[in-house]
Amino acid sequence: MDILDRLAVYSFVEELIEVLFDFSGVELFWKIVDTFESKHNPQEELWHTLFNSPGYSALTKSEFSQEKLQNAMSIALDPKRAIEAHFSQDASIGGIVSHFQEVVKRRMELETLFDELKGKSANIETDIFDLVVEYLPSNIEYPSLDIAFVFFQRDARGYEWVVIDGLLALELDSQLLTRLIAHEYHHQCRDSILCYDKEIVRPEDQDLMWVLNQTQAEGIADNIDKPRWFYGENPVDAYTEFVQAYRDEVTVAETTLQSIDLIIETGVLEGYYREEIGKEVREHLPMSGHPIGYHMTQIISKANLFGEMIETLGNPFEFFRLYNRALLILKKDGLSESTLFILDDLETRYC
Ligand SMILES: [Zn+2]
Repeated sequence: MDILDRLAVYSFVEELIEVLFDFSGVELFWKIVDTFESKHNPQEELWHTLFNSPGYSALTKSEFSQEKLQNAMSIALDPKRAIEAHFSQDASIGGIVSHFQEVVKRRMELETLFDELKGKSANIETDIFDLVVEYLPSNIEYPSLDIAFVFFQRDARGYEWVVIDGLLALELDSQLLTRLIAHEYHHQCRDSILCYDKEIVRPEDQDLMWVLNQTQAEGIADNIDKPRWFYGENPVDAYTEFVQAYRDEVTVAETTLQSIDLIIETGVLEGYYREEIGKEVREHLPMSGHPIGYHMTQIISKANLFGEMIETLGNPFEFFRLYNRALLILKKDGLSESTLFILDDLETRYC
């Protein structure tokens, strides 16, 4: 695609973070909408360009299948398929179909938002820097920050590109949107100093390593956006139940961690395969590690170990050991010997 078509805006601040906004996924999505509205089917070439835009390309390389997204877009946007769209609501694809329909209904608001964002990109890097700096080690090199706006579901992802859904961006106020971007950017910064290579983790260790990594990554990054969003005023109606569930999980996190510790201890003592222990631990980890990790950061901070937690950001094993130290400092029961052994063992194997 022509670089001029990407509506890219570059900016620099203190030569620390280089920010690039990309709206090409959104622009191509409108083209698909317009084509369907003029009673034509989009050409294969147009679909191809859409799914090669940075945002959609990042999504379809990881969690989302192009076929599913394209199918949902076609059902939602093709006026000839309105009845099918209506009856798809209960099917698994229904959520995405109605998401795309809502996008079309709110196109004017969305276009206004994107125009505003294009004007604002010059300032955002200072704000992002101010939000993440506290949660990053002093010697880190700040990677460039590439942000792609697309439509997929009310969510965001921090792959090589930070991918943000337009409707979510619309419903967050600008401060919360900046915090959300900073949260995702924090993942990218942390990934750049992660002490192990995710690609070489053996199959039997994958679940345990995923749990350790997720819990640390999300727990620390949640400090950037969740206090104001989930514990302040949540402007996204669709998140109401999710916010409550998160807060409930944080409340019982200590008990959840104790039962995870017990699963590991029992598994080790009974001689279960590492794979079985990992699978069971992963099943007991609520909400991909967010609330547990967030709770752990609070306990670690309470024990005055915040500085160490940040300086060891690239090491998920150290995060759990710090949590254990914090428990002991706070005169609570620490983690079991078995869990501490597994942490050391995995660290030796991969770091
Ligand atoms: Zn995250």
